Amino acid sequence: MKILAFAFLITASLMLILPELSDAQQRGSLMGAFSPRRADLDQMRERGFLETGLKPVYPKGAECLKVTSPFGSGTRSDGSARTRKFYNGYHGGTDIPAKEGTPILAIADGKVVHKVEGMGIGGIGIILQHRPQDTGLDAWTYTEYKHLTEMPSFPIGHQIRMGEVIDQAGTSGTTGGYYGAAGFSHLHLAAFYSQEEHLDTPINR
Ligand SMILES: [Zn+2]
Repeated sequence: MKILAFAFLITASLMLILPELSDAQQRGSLMGAFSPRRADLDQMRERGFLETGLKPVYPKGAECLKVTSPFGSGTRSDGSARTRKFYNGYHGGTDIPAKEGTPILAIADGKVVHKVEGMGIGGIGIILQHRPQDTGLDAWTYTEYKHLTEMPSFPIGHQIRMGEVIDQAGTSGTTGGYYGAAGFSHLHLAAFYSQEEHLDTPINR
């Protein structure tokens, strides 16, 4: 069985880019990814991108699938241009194509702090919060998983272990610019960091 695994941390370049939470995100819209409205990648690095120095490790039998649209990319996985309607055309996460139903594993130990479901572009998604001691990083980190097959049953506040299956890759929301079956199954993964702990309680939106 093919397993999509993220044990801290992966991107195509083995460098995780972590934008610091914006004021708006701290106020309660964390599920909307970092929005680099007028910044190019160099400018975004100046504004808080972080190379973690962490190396990915994987459970036995798991593999790292290919990233086809990295963070900040102006194009989708098929090479088409992203609509400027969202984040001014920049990608707010990392897209990793995976067959529908492919298990998604938690990047690190953490706590479920947000769940969202609806007609938004992200479809079904969750956010995990990782304490500094969960990652070894000198910051609180948050990982976001979107386009999931179904809303996980675990409640807000539920503790997750690194490598635990949290859901399956799917096509909820907009995938590749299309809704539902016209899209393609993939995981949208994003990570954020903050020097302070946020989201002790679930955000209502
Ligand atoms: Zn994406």
